[in-house]
Amino acid sequence: MPSITQIPSGVLLTFDDGPSEYVIPLLNILKRKHVMAFFFWLGENLSPSQSISQVLAEGHGIGSHGFHHKILSDLSYQEQYWEIQQSKVALENCIQSPIRFFRPPNGRMNEDTIAIAKSFHLHCVRWNIGSWDWAHAHDPDTIADHVVGHVSSGSIVLLHELPQTVIILEQLIDRIREKGLDFAGPEALDLRVGL
Ligand SMILES: [Zn+2]
Repeated sequence: MPSITQIPSGVLLTFDDGPSEYVIPLLNILKRKHVMAFFFWLGENLSPSQSISQVLAEGHGIGSHGFHHKILSDLSYQEQYWEIQQSKVALENCIQSPIRFFRPPNGRMNEDTIAIAKSFHLHCVRWNIGSWDWAHAHDPDTIADHVVGHVSSGSIVLLHELPQTVIILEQLIDRIREKGLDFAGPEALDLRVGL
């Protein structure tokens, strides 16, 4: 299994590139709407903070997104090894819990990425619905329109910790539910890999 792009059923929301100042606003909406999500964080953004413990305490998942958001398929084996190892160590030191899922930046990976991730018992996770939230800072409704138009049971939705994503998250959740879909929590990834 080179990478996971879908889950058995339900919809899993994932948020990349944090932890950032937008974690708390995102958590507040997720809590109010009773949705569990998965956060893929960068080693370089970590610092002990309230938001990190709150993410875990509220039942969300945390995975690695590398250390410096480097495009791994452009790197040598040794450079990739450093990115993956250092981000895992930094995250585990921070959250005091094992990291088992890794999302390569921009979803770009090669045979080395797969081999290195496997050596660290990490499962690579991509997505099958890109929200393009980073491209729609000035027209955030477009983000929800795009996701709702494509999402289905089993989807992993790629979102980011961005202000426009905070703006549309509540309507996005409501509209996915109006389509008759339920949300899956972080355990959906465990099920996917048979843990
Ligand atoms: Zn990213």
